[in-house]
Amino acid sequence: MTRPKLDLIQAPTPLHRLDRASEALGIDLWIKRDDLTGFALGGNKGRKIEYILGDLMARGVRAVVTCGAAHSNFIRQLAAGCQVAGIECHAAVMVSPFDAAAGRPSFAAPGYGGNWMLSERFGAQLTVFEDDDWEVLYAHADEIAARLGAEVIPVGGSCALGAYAMWLAAKEVEGFRDIVFASSSGSTHVGFQSCFQGTATNVWGIACDPEPEIAHDFVELSRALGFAELGFDDFKLDFDFVGDGYGVPSAAGEAASSFLLRHEGIVLDPVYTAKAFAGLLARKAEFTGKTLFWHTGGIPAVFNPAT
Ligand SMILES: *Cc1c(COP(=O)(O)O)cnc(C)c1O
Repeated sequence: MTRPKLDLIQAPTPLHRLDRASEALGIDLWIKRDDLTGFALGGNKGRKIEYILGDLMARGVRAVVTCGAAHSNFIRQLAAGCQVAGIECHAAVMVSPFDAAAGRPSFAAPGYGGNWMLSERFGAQLTVFEDDDWEVLYAHADEIAARLGAEVIPVGGSCALGAYAMWLAAKEVEGFRDIVFASSSGSTHVGFQSCFQGTATNVWGIACDPEPEIAHDFVELSRALGFAELGFDDFKLDFDFVGDGYGVPSAAGEAASSFLLRHEGIVLDPVYTAKAFAGLLARKAEFTGKTLFWHTGGIPAVFNPAT
């Protein structure tokens, strides 16, 4: 089945070996550069929105509502894509949404700038709500959508089409024993695992949200994608590197960032990729074969202003 697509990004993204990091770590380390998807400052979300927007355009949808953190990479890329597609973009945001079960993280949430500023400059209409649980944020998005007669796009673009785009992305790489990346709303993990299930390639998601039950949602999403039968235990999701909570920079992440900056001149973001790379560094003894770090983007967060 061919799915309608709006061409936005530069793909396949570069794939190259990290010679200096490999030598320093004693492993065979490569990197997939989805920080260089190109559209609206890059990131894995560009892949998803090509198919999400292609579908919306084919169906004549005029307005969408999504939700996320005010500094969401997805909202930034969706906002820019909606401009290209001629679709009105709204978003319900919280500066620092959290998982009520894990508790509210205490930290100095970033101020206005970065993705938040870019999303508005790309023409999205953001409504800011007081920080609360993610479920409350989803309800705000539904309410705005009902009021405007707009279609809801799930957080992070993690719908079946988002997972489909990441399944296609996985087909850009082969021959790796281990793939490590930052996992959050799930369509990246679902796309990758659906592609490599039953092969010699292990897919390791380093979680960026303190939500151990989230793989149940991944199972559901993989059913919607429909390419592989996946259960809860098929998702290798490591929660050891979340730190104090979603969006809160961690000491291990900052150290991992510095390592990559100084060995390779490659920038990681504090919310996702730095935590994922910290996981890779901590578990390097397990990576005895050809290993891939999938850089998923997030660069604007490096410039987040303090409050
Ligand atoms: C959204 C995002 C992820 C996680 O992708 P999901 O498909 O939401 O799990 C990882 N890294 C960055 C930089 C992101 O913006």
